[in-house]
Amino acid sequence: MAEATVAKPAEKKAAAKKKRLPPKVAIIDENGCTGCEVCIELCPVDCIYKYESEDAMTGVVQVDIEKCIGCSICAQYCPWETIPMVDNPLLLLEGPEEEKKAA
Ligand code: SF4
Ligand code: SF4
Repeated sequence: MAEATVAKPAEKKAAAKKKRLPPKVAIIDENGCTGCEVCIELCPVDCIYKYESEDAMTGVVQVDIEKCIGCSICAQYCPWETIPMVDNPLLLLEGPEEEKKAA
């Protein structure tokens, strides 16, 4: 008799996590960023961080793409228009099937 294949809890969790990956995520154009922190204030999931810098005005920010939900609020409100939304590199790593799920 054929055995039923039951997904283990860890596998289910991993599959659910993959489904939630957004198709686009924000990245920072460090050449244009002034470090004004508007994006940090607006990000609903607090996934934008400022680099530590001796001169705060030259500090730039960085997006944790594993936490980014792709809402694009930061991109819309950056005063310097220096946040492009790009194809989620985490989906590219997963392959074409995962990209279809996120679309
Ligand atoms: S809003 Fe734009 S310029 Fe200001 S810190 Fe964020 S990315 Fe940099
Ligand atoms: S796209 Fe949304 S979640 Fe991602 S960094 Fe910008 S504000 Fe945060």
